[in-house]
Amino acid sequence: RDVTRERAMTTPEIDSDVQVSSRDRLIFPEAKVTKGQLADYYEAVGAIMLPWVAHRPISLVRCPQGRAKKCFFQKHDSGSFGDHVKHVAIREKDGGEQDYLYVDDIDGLIACVQMGTIEFHGWGSRVDNVEKPDRLIFDLDPDEGLDFEDVKKAARDIRHTLEDIGLVSFAMLSGGKGVHVVVPLTPDAEWPQVKDFADRFSRALASTEPDRFTATMSKAKRKGRIFIDWLRNQRGATAVLPYVVRARENAPVAAPVSWAELNDVDRAAAFTIADVAQLLERAGSLELRGWGEARQTLPDF
Ligand code: ATP
Ligand code: MN
Ligand code: MN
Repeated sequence: RDVTRERAMTTPEIDSDVQVSSRDRLIFPEAKVTKGQLADYYEAVGAIMLPWVAHRPISLVRCPQGRAKKCFFQKHDSGSFGDHVKHVAIREKDGGEQDYLYVDDIDGLIACVQMGTIEFHGWGSRVDNVEKPDRLIFDLDPDEGLDFEDVKKAARDIRHTLEDIGLVSFAMLSGGKGVHVVVPLTPDAEWPQVKDFADRFSRALASTEPDRFTATMSKAKRKGRIFIDWLRNQRGATAVLPYVVRARENAPVAAPVSWAELNDVDRAAAFTIADVAQLLERAGSLELRGWGEARQTLPDF
């Protein structure tokens, strides 16, 4: 009995009614990927992507003229995206409020693509509970020239150290250079506590193995090491979301992988937009069943 296939086939197809203009515009000149193809990709992965993207404040990397031209990171908008892209008012540090963007369906996703979006980045909390993160991320950023094998080993070490204190974690290829170790959380602790945990956990690891890791952002300290970027875990910070196409050469995709699969992958950009069928089939497979899901809260550390 082919459970993989059965599950893949039960993934509902969802279509968007949003019109995409300039479908022939080349967004990835080197990979010859057009705006229409980018929209088709997001429509195809909508069902497996939306559980991670929907109902979460997002920032967008927009490159209206393609990835080789000017791109910008956008957090706010006054309404040019239309009704499919929602707004949520969030308290600012200074006491004021700002509207952040979020989507809750395929039309929202495609409306963003219509506006030139390539990448979707999300907060670690959801719009109905912004102060309580539902995930923690250790974003592993290797120094230039480091081998991907070193990144994989770092991810596995973090996984096991987390396991020692009772936390389940998952791996995602960023589509760029590194791996994100994702720790799902039942929203309970607020941002300051989550950030403090991520900070102390990363510094503890870096002080045990100073030759391999640094928990400090400075480029100088990173020399030959992996920066454990725990700063993704502060209020307002974002991280790239699963199945997002990166605005980088050849349209790589941020891809969830199982820990077993990670052993066999040789780069963080192993999947590209051209692998859409494989990504869909994998998402329904036993290998990835339960990826990113765990009911757990931060232990004392
Ligand atoms: P890589 O594996 O190549 O590091 P990455 O997605 O982890 O890919 P980082 O440079 O480590 O890239 O960035 C981490 C996160 O910081 C991004 O995913 C994004 O959410 C956020 N970020 C990136 N650029 C900006 C920016 N200009 N302004 C605010 N946040 C940003
Ligand atoms: Mn990174
Ligand atoms: Mn980073």
